Formats: sequence, structure tokens, C-alpha cells
Amino acid sequence: MQSLRELYRIGMGPSSSHTMGPRYAALIWKKFKQNAASHRVTLYGSLGATGRGHLTDKAIIEALAPVPVKIIWKGDVVLSRHSNGMLFEALDSNGNVIDNWTVFSVGGGVLQEDSRFSLLGTEAENNQTYNLNSMDQILKWSNNSGQPLWKYVDEQENESIWDYLAEIWETMQNAIGRGLICEDVLPGSLHLARKAGVIYQQSENRAEKRTGLLAAYALAVSEENASGGIVVTAPTCGSSGVLPAVLRYLQETMSISETMILKAIAVAGLVGNLAKTNASISGAEAGCQAEIGVACAMAAAAAARLLGATPFQIEYAAEMGLEHHLGLTCDPVAGLVQIPCIERNVMAALRALDCARYALFSDGRHHVTLDQVIETMYKTGRDLLPLYRETAGGGLALHIGAIGNAGKND
Ligand code: SF4
Repeated sequence: MQSLRELYRIGMGPSSSHTMGPRYAALIWKKFKQNAASHRVTLYGSLGATGRGHLTDKAIIEALAPVPVKIIWKGDVVLSRHSNGMLFEALDSNGNVIDNWTVFSVGGGVLQEDSRFSLLGTEAENNQTYNLNSMDQILKWSNNSGQPLWKYVDEQENESIWDYLAEIWETMQNAIGRGLICEDVLPGSLHLARKAGVIYQQSENRAEKRTGLLAAYALAVSEENASGGIVVTAPTCGSSGVLPAVLRYLQETMSISETMILKAIAVAGLVGNLAKTNASISGAEAGCQAEIGVACAMAAAAAARLLGATPFQIEYAAEMGLEHHLGLTCDPVAGLVQIPCIERNVMAALRALDCARYALFSDGRHHVTLDQVIETMYKTGRDLLPLYRETAGGGLALHIGAIGNAGKND
């Protein structure tokens, strides 16, 4: 597995695969092709189908500025390697193509390219920081060594990882802070009002304060993300509200130290990294189970750790967080990362905490392992029709649009 730096990335929303990855690709292309008179960028598959709602074109055009860019949308053409394909072409002053580059945004802001032509270099993709690639192996290591799970991160990464995770936590908290005070309407055709601040205020006087606070924190980050604000991929932008919400809630209600929070982020990172390595964290590849489901598993693991769970109970909590999202489709209404995405972050945060508490009732023994459910998630995702993999062609995206009921209350 790669470093947690490759999983937790700081960047602008609303989508790690449709905004962050394409922006990153455009910046690389710009550096490589400084002599171009203009650029043409063709967006295939899910990028072509939902890129407008995900601000893909804006991200690419801004990154390549001031050189003009023509965007071509080909949502009906899917390249074989991944649904999120991009063809960058540099043109001379006569409009002739002088060079081209095919690259894929595979989720979580990560890029992969055609082996024919490499601009990314092989280092990032091949750099394996961790020597174990399954939770089963990591649990055996923990059992044999007597060490907690966060210690495995400490052993495998270099020492600056803790500074990096501190920056990640600070960025998450900043997103919560901004999201709680902003009352704007979210960008895009749905004209959804932000709700985080109102729910936060209301939670003070309600019996269900837990629900209110978790919802407010998850909404704050998700609404920031939908507005193109700075968030942390955990594991993606669309699912970026789940882990911060659970961490902030537990920190406040249990007076947990920052050091404990960073260890919990490390444990959550192991879970996300396993899903990324052995399956997918891309909604375009495996549906929303790969984004919200994995985010819930990560947050469940973090919560279990903070609540004092054993490594086996942590694994159980994470397994439940993903298992009970199996089959969840990706069907963003109007191609925006808003409905159902924003509320899904709330529901996953609530569920993550419940998974952690439920796991603590057990001794950690259970039937289906996290490794098995990760594998099942990927196979289930590949079996989903493309309609349900971030093309905005099925599910809520189709039916809500079709009956003209893209409500403002989602
Ligand atoms: S439905 Fe889920 S996977 Fe799809 S864009 Fe929304 S959060 Fe991402």
C-alpha cells in the first residue's frame, strides 16, 4: 500500500475524481506543454457525463490559463482502462495537434496514465510504503507484536507523517468552521440552501443533540465541498464530511486530545488505504459504496479506536461500516455532488458511530471480515450498470430530474 499522503489529499471540491484529479492533470500538462497556442481536452465516460456539474471544465480551464482551452464532452464513450478518461491535446497556432496525453482520474485525486507515454513518472504509483496489504495480515502483526493499529502506520511511514496528519486534521476542522457560518445557496441548478449552521444552532436545544451535531459537522464539510471549498479526501471529496464529523463530535463530547485524534486518523487511513489498494474508492468505478461506504468504514474504525476498542473490534466496526453500504449506487442529481451526496455524509457519520458502539458490545469475533467485504464491494461495483456509476443516468439522477422534483429540501 502507498503512503497515507496518497489517500488524504488537501484540495478543492466538489469531486476528487472529477475536479481535483483533472486539475492536477491539467497542471502537469501545462508544465509539459508550455509552447502550446491552445489546448483541446476531451472528457470521456463519467467525466463527460457529469463533468459540468462537478466543475471539471472550470478546473481544467483555470489550471491551463491563460492559454485558451476547448472542452469536448464525450460521456457516451468510455475508454477501456477507467470510466474517467481525459485526452489532453496541445495545438499550434494553426490548430494542428503537436502532442497528446491520455490520462485517467481514478478516484481520490489519483491519476493513472497510458503506459505508452508517461508524464506522471512511475515513482508515486509504484511507491509502496506498507509491506502488508490486507487487514488480516495487519491484525496478525498487531496480535503478534502486541502493538495497536496506529503503531503500524508509525512504523511504516517516515516520522513526518504525524505533521502531515496534523495538517489534515487542521484542514478538516477549518472546513467545519467555514461550513458552519456560511449561509449561501450552493452553486448549480438545484439552488439548495446550506443547512449546516441552522442545524448546529438547533442541536443545542434538542434532545437528539448527537444527531444534530454529527449532522451539522458532516453538512458543513460536504457543503463546503459542494461549493468548491478546500477539503480533505477521506477517501474522496464527495465523502469528505463523514470522518471529520465523527472526529469532531467525539473530540468535543469526550475531551479527546489532538494526539489521540491523529492516531484515529491513522487507523482510519489504514482502512481507506486497504479499500483503495484492493478495490476502489471511485464512484465512477464501483458506485457510492466505494466512496460513502469506505468513508463510513474509515470513520467507524476511527471512532472505535477513540472509544477504546481492541484492534479486532476496530476491524469489526470498519467491516460493518462498509458491509451495510454494499450495493449503494452513485446517482448524483443534475450531475452535482449535492443530492444525494450531502445527506449521505450525514447518514454515514451517524452509522459510523453506531458501528463503533455496536462493535464494542462484542469481543471482535465475527463472520465476514473487512478484507472480504472490500473484495465484495469491488465485485458488486463492477456488476453495477454504468447508469449507477457516476454518470447521472440512473437512480435519483434520472427519476428526480424526470418528474421535475429536484427539491430544495434534500
Ligand atoms: S452519489 Fe456518492 S459516489 Fe456519487 S458523487 Fe455523490 S458522494 Fe460521490
